[in-house]
Amino acid sequence: MAALTVAVLLLAGAAMGSVNLLVDGVIRPGTARWVYGGTMAVLAGIAIALAVRRRIGRWTTFGLVLVGDLVYLVVALSITDPVRYATPLMMLFAAFVAAWFLDGWMLAAHLVVTPVVVAAALWGSYDNMPGLLVQVCVNAGVLNLAAAGVFVLRRRIERLLASTQQLSLRDPLTGLGNRRHLEEQADRIWRQARRDGARVAAMVLDLDHFKLLNDAHGHAAGDAVLRTVADALTATVRPADVLARLGGEELAVLGLVGDPAEANRLAERLRRAVAGARTRSGHTVTASIGIAIARPADGEDPVDGLWRLLDSADAAMYEAKQAGRDRVAAVLTARPRSVPVAPADGETSEVA
Ligand code: GH3
Ligand code: MG
Ligand code: MG
Repeated sequence: MAALTVAVLLLAGAAMGSVNLLVDGVIRPGTARWVYGGTMAVLAGIAIALAVRRRIGRWTTFGLVLVGDLVYLVVALSITDPVRYATPLMMLFAAFVAAWFLDGWMLAAHLVVTPVVVAAALWGSYDNMPGLLVQVCVNAGVLNLAAAGVFVLRRRIERLLASTQQLSLRDPLTGLGNRRHLEEQADRIWRQARRDGARVAAMVLDLDHFKLLNDAHGHAAGDAVLRTVADALTATVRPADVLARLGGEELAVLGLVGDPAEANRLAERLRRAVAGARTRSGHTVTASIGIAIARPADGEDPVDGLWRLLDSADAAMYEAKQAGRDRVAAVLTARPRSVPVAPADGETSEVA
């Protein structure tokens, strides 16, 4: 995108500049027309190269911005009446590219170069210093203000995009990651599991009788419970685990484990954290937790693998519900069989 934008601007500049070659009396007598024409040809050549390559780095862009400033100077010095035929506003091309694509210090360098180039270009057009100074200030001021404005606008847009992207991955009620966040993390977890030879454990947590809590105490109380549970779980998961709200009163935890017993210990800790969480109004809740564990298969798409694992964990969670709620149930996805679960305060069921 940047390469194409710069290519179009360069080509437009070369085309507009070349028109001067066709108009009688525009090129200053004594100026080698081939220098002027050659400069336009170089501009067009760079534009074509950029359009073909379709890639442009920051340093190349910086170089091109300075080349743009220099080209304007060549044009202004080759022309009979720069004020009429080569207004300094031609440098707007370079100013916009610098403001939109370059780092702060590179743009600052361009802002410093601008008044120097404008002064050199207009030098011969004014026979008194105050007149020259006013024109340099007005033209360089307009150019630099335009560049600074574009730069500020770009910064705002970048910040807005970053915060929008952040928001699109968060659940607004609890502040936890959402399903999209979970999917985004799958790639990292799958890669780590392959690298470390670890297994991926997915846990689905569903709050027990949450509808009753809402019906008895109101939706606001239910929301407060969800937030309190989210905080308790956040404080309990390991730093590398991913905790997300799948929707409603269902949450998920994704992490790496060495063996099923480790997953069960973590799930038990989560179960106790939920049961021990209490809102300011004194409301509490319990959770039924389903665990599924698998080794990433070769060539498996992490997001497909994630949802397969969550489906299995969801099935295990329903088993935990049926076994009496407030407990952990596990299923080993790779080869479904009974998984011994850690003894705990709440009973733990085994799921085939
Ligand atoms: P079970 O133990 O079988 O899971 O029973 P349950 O009542 O928790 O399950 P059910 O699926 O019947 O009800 C889930 C309830 O969760 C219904 C819905 O109103 C409530 N809920 C879902 N999202 C929110 C939310 O954002 N805020 C509040 N306050 N309630 C929610
Ligand atoms: Mg539910
Ligand atoms: Mg529920």
